[in-house]
Amino acid sequence: MHRDTVFDLIGIGFGPSNLALAVRLAEEAGVSDLAHCFIERQPEFGWHRGMLLDDCRMQISFLKDLVTMRDPTSRFTFINYLFERGRLADFVNLKNFYPTRVEFHDYLAWVAASFDDRVNYGQTVTGIEAVRSTGHTNEVAALRVFSRDHEGREWQRVTRALSVGIGGGPQVPEAFAALGTHNIVHSSQYLTSIDRVVGPASGARKRLAVVGAGQSAAEVFVDLTRRYPHVDASLIIRSSALKPADDSPFVNEIFNPAFTDVVYAQPRDGRRALIERFRDTNYAVVDRPLIEQIYEMLYLQNVCAEPRHRLLANTAIETAMRTGGGRIELTLRDRLSGHARAEHFDALVLATGYRRDTHVDLLEGLAPHLGDALARGDVERDYRLVTPASFKPRIYLQGCCEDSHGLSDTLLSVLALRSDEIAASLAHHALQDRTADRTSRTQANATSAGRMSYAV
Ligand SMILES: Cc1cc2nc3c(=O)[nH]c(=O)nc-3n(C[C@H](O)[C@H](O)[C@H](O)COP(=O)(O)OP(=O)(O)OC[C@H]3O[C@@H](n4cnc5c(N)ncnc54)[C@H](O)[C@@H]3O)c2cc1C
Repeated sequence: MHRDTVFDLIGIGFGPSNLALAVRLAEEAGVSDLAHCFIERQPEFGWHRGMLLDDCRMQISFLKDLVTMRDPTSRFTFINYLFERGRLADFVNLKNFYPTRVEFHDYLAWVAASFDDRVNYGQTVTGIEAVRSTGHTNEVAALRVFSRDHEGREWQRVTRALSVGIGGGPQVPEAFAALGTHNIVHSSQYLTSIDRVVGPASGARKRLAVVGAGQSAAEVFVDLTRRYPHVDASLIIRSSALKPADDSPFVNEIFNPAFTDVVYAQPRDGRRALIERFRDTNYAVVDRPLIEQIYEMLYLQNVCAEPRHRLLANTAIETAMRTGGGRIELTLRDRLSGHARAEHFDALVLATGYRRDTHVDLLEGLAPHLGDALARGDVERDYRLVTPASFKPRIYLQGCCEDSHGLSDTLLSVLALRSDEIAASLAHHALQDRTADRTSRTQANATSAGRMSYAV
């Protein structure tokens, strides 16, 4: 038997969601003394590195950085980042609210560097287990978090609260999943894999298909046409045209932090209806300037009479199979004429989006204690998973509450305020925990460095 020091909070994943929370915890008197750490799979901070294309811009104003919407005086604002980097005046001259993703990545990494001592980089959380209270056989008092580092070593930590901020997992349609990964790349891995897939420019011409009708698909398509002179690229979309993202000002109000209350107050059907009504702000849509750029590029090809790249609209992919030499045969059906044909490609890029249910697998070990709240996605307004009374630890979910909290949940829009709400909830419950600890300590005399320990 041994005793563990118990954290007040462990954050799983150190992307923008938990980074915003780290900032909040550091800045707020009352929560800054909470014992907390983060566990991040990547060896260092990285924000969608696989899609960090040179000239792609943010789809959100820099004012919706990690902090400004709750505290413009924080030292972690994007403006202060520019100031400290010596670029503030030049940035103003750009007259643009939308920095490149490369610059925003640099901003996020600049903030993250202040929290290096809190983050266990290079560790993947592999599972979570319930830790029962001593003497109360049915009560779950804490959670044991298992992780594995790059050398295969196992780590264990115990905590009273989790903040799950693991982002989305690649969504791979069934037809492609069966083909394996050889020469099939999800857009999340685009920059890290595409050179290997495409091969050197001195080699044979390559036919690549990009599948998807959203922003990532359009960005990858343009990038392929620019980066590789020996690639002929086809963008395959089911819809009749690339559609522009609606970022008009009244519609954009749905990303205001206050709109989260509006969505949350609706019954389940009402929330779903709201999300569907505004779906074209985020899903299967493309920024208008990028659409115009693609249109012009395809037009200019026709001027030169050497069309190499294509947009195949109204096209359903009915089957996908491997043929000789590792090529991939797609059966494409024209959704207007009904005509089907087979085409062969050397490689595919699947810009088919992200699953938002990966937390369910991660929390699977707790399923016997949680009832059906996890499967149903029952989450409190403060992002806490609804748990039975006998389950004392709190599990905060970030980025997987779109169904309950609205479209901004998977984006950057509400990060500053969401971290504030979670920090307030943590502070409230930590106070309760400490009161309970004092009582238990008297009874069980089980203390370690001033914090409650559990016999395991
Ligand atoms: C290419 C691209 C561009 C985008 N641009 C914008 C934009 O301009 N504006 C906007 O509002 N939104 C944008 N988004 C949406 C995006 O979801 C958010 O920007 C943001 O990344 C959400 O942060 P997060 O921390 O919740 O998730 P993520 O950024 O996905 O971070 C999750 C982190 O968890 C880590 N992790 C996952 N599993 C584990 C595990 N088991 N153990 C340990 N660590 C783990 C991952 O390595 C990752 O670092 C974009 C998304 C993509 C893919």
